[in-house]
Amino acid sequence: MAKADQQSFDAVIVGAGFSGLYMLHKLRQLGLTARVYEAGDGVGGTWYWNRYPGARVDVESQEYSYSFDEALQDEWVWTERYSTQPELLRYINHVADRFDLRRDVQLETRVQAAKYDEASALWTVSTDRGEVVSARYCIMATGCLSVPNEPNFPGQDQFKGPTYHTGRWPHEGVDFTGKRVAVIGTGSSAIQSIPQIAAQAEQIYVLQRTPNYSVPAHNAPIDPAALADWNANRAARRQAQRASVSGIYAADPTEILAMEVSAEERQARYEERWAKGGFCIGATFADMGIDKAANDTAAAFVADKIRSMVKDPKVAEALVPKDYPFGAKRLCVDTGYYETFNRGNVSLIDLNASPLDRITAKGVQVDGEEIAVDAIVFAIGFDAMTGALSRIHIHGKGGQALSEVWEAGPRSYLGLMVAGFPNLFTVTGPGSPSVLSNMLVSIEQHVEWISDCIGHLQDRQLASIEAMPDAQDAWVDHVNEVANMTLHVQASSWYLGANIPGKPRVFMPYIGGVGLYREKCDDVAAKGYEGFALKSAATVG
Ligand code: NAP
Repeated sequence: MAKADQQSFDAVIVGAGFSGLYMLHKLRQLGLTARVYEAGDGVGGTWYWNRYPGARVDVESQEYSYSFDEALQDEWVWTERYSTQPELLRYINHVADRFDLRRDVQLETRVQAAKYDEASALWTVSTDRGEVVSARYCIMATGCLSVPNEPNFPGQDQFKGPTYHTGRWPHEGVDFTGKRVAVIGTGSSAIQSIPQIAAQAEQIYVLQRTPNYSVPAHNAPIDPAALADWNANRAARRQAQRASVSGIYAADPTEILAMEVSAEERQARYEERWAKGGFCIGATFADMGIDKAANDTAAAFVADKIRSMVKDPKVAEALVPKDYPFGAKRLCVDTGYYETFNRGNVSLIDLNASPLDRITAKGVQVDGEEIAVDAIVFAIGFDAMTGALSRIHIHGKGGQALSEVWEAGPRSYLGLMVAGFPNLFTVTGPGSPSVLSNMLVSIEQHVEWISDCIGHLQDRQLASIEAMPDAQDAWVDHVNEVANMTLHVQASSWYLGANIPGKPRVFMPYIGGVGLYREKCDDVAAKGYEGFALKSAATVG
C-alpha cells in the first residue's frame, strides 16, 4: 500500500531511450503524470552507452527514426546513409528538447525494485537514491541490449593495462595510437570497431570464437535524391514499414524461392543486393530463413565474397562461418571489416584452434603463448532481452518474483505483459518482434499500443489489466512454434540466450514479423483486450 507521504505518479517509466521518451510523450497526451528514471547521466539509451569507435546504426537513417510527428520528420535531416552514434545521440536529445520531455526525466537514478500491491492495484518503485514512489502503471522501457555481458576470463584482474567494454565505452573516447590492442569478440560491435581501432593502433589482435556473416553497408553521405524520394513517399513508406516483416522498407523482400531459379539468376540477385548494401541481402529469397538448401546458397555466396576480400587464404577461411545458417545469428553490416585483415597490423586469432587460456598481467595467453598488449577491448555482447528486467527486483501478485516466474525462460503475452504482474508493461519485451526488427518501428508500435491500453483503462475508470495465463501459454507456444519452423534455432545465438552461461535456452523474440504481429495486437485490443483480465477498482485485490 502506498504511504500517505509517498510521491505518486500515474506511471513510472524505466529507461530514457527511444522507448521511454516516446512513452512519456504519449502518456502526457493522455493527461497523465509520469516519471522516467534513467541510470545514465543523459538520455538516449543504446546510443548513450554504445560509444565505441565506428558505432553507427545499421538500418538506414530515415527508417531508423520516429514516425509519429510530421514536423519532426520534416525538420531533422540525417547526414549519412547510416547515422553515427553521435548523430543519433544528437537526434534523441533534440527530441527530448522539442517535446519538453526532460522535466519528467530523472537521470543518474537506477530503479532497483518494483512491487505490486494487490489491494490498491499500485506499483511501489524504489531507486538507488533511496526514493520510493507509487504508480498505477509501471512501464519497463529498459532496452533489449542494455546490460553488458560481463567479462569473466581467468586472470583478467591481473592485467595491468586498461580494459574497455564496447557497451560501456568511455565518453571521452580512447586513443589507441601506438598501442597494441586485443579485441575479444567478433559480433556487430567488434565488426564496427575493429576497422577503426586497426587504423589507429600499432597492432591489433582479433580473438574470434565464432565468425559472423557480415555484409557491406556501403555507407556514404545521404543521397539527396534518395532522401527526396523518401520524403515524397513518406506516408506510404512508413505504412509499408509497419506492415512488413522486418520493419525495414529497404529490406525489399521477394516471394521468389532460391531453389526455383537457376544458379546464374540466384547469383545475380545476390550480387545486386550485395551491391546495394545492408540487410536487403537477407530478404533476397523467401525461403532463405526456413529451407537449409536455400540458405546454403546465401552462405556460399557470402563465403566466396569473404575469400575474395581477404588476401591470406588461411585467414579468409577462418573468417568464413561454417557451422550455422546464414542469418541465424544477427547479420552484421560493416564498413571495411574483411579488408581490415589485409593490413599488416591486424592478426586474427581463431580461438577454436588456439584457445584463450587466460588473461595475464601483460596481455592474453592463447594456446600456451603469451601475446603482450597494452589494452583489451571486450566486444562480448549483452545479456539480451531479459538482462535488464532480471536485475530489477520485480514482484507481482502474491509477492511472486519475475525472476522466479522466468526461471526457465521468459513467458509473456504478446511480449507486452506477464500473467501475475498487472499494469506492468514491457516495451519490445521477449515474445515480441523486437530485436528481429527495425527497433524504431517496434518501439512505436508497442508504445502506441500501451498508451491506447492505458487510455482505455482510464476512460472506463478501470484499476488494472493483467495477461491471463491461458492466453500467455498459447502465445508462448505460438512464439516457439514459429521459431522452430526457422533455421534461427540452429545457431547458438544471443536470441536464444546461448551467450550467457547458465541462461535458459529459449528463443526469445517473436519471428512472425512486425506486420502480422501488429495485426494480432490490434485485434486483441479491438476485442476488448482479449486474453487480458480488466478489473474495476471495486474488484481488485
Ligand atoms: P554479440 O553479437 O553477442 O557478439 C559478442 C561476441 O563476443 C561474439 O563474437 C562472441 O562469440 C564473443 N564472445 C562472447 N563471450 C566470449 C568469450 N567468453 N570468449 C570469447 N569470445 C566471446 O555482441 P555485440 O557485437 O555487442 O552485438 C550485440 C547486438 O547488438 C547485435 O547483434 C545487434 O543486435 C546489436 N548491435 C547493433 C549495432 C548496429 O545497429 N549497428 C551495432 C552493435 C550491436 P560467440 O559468437 O562464439 O558467442
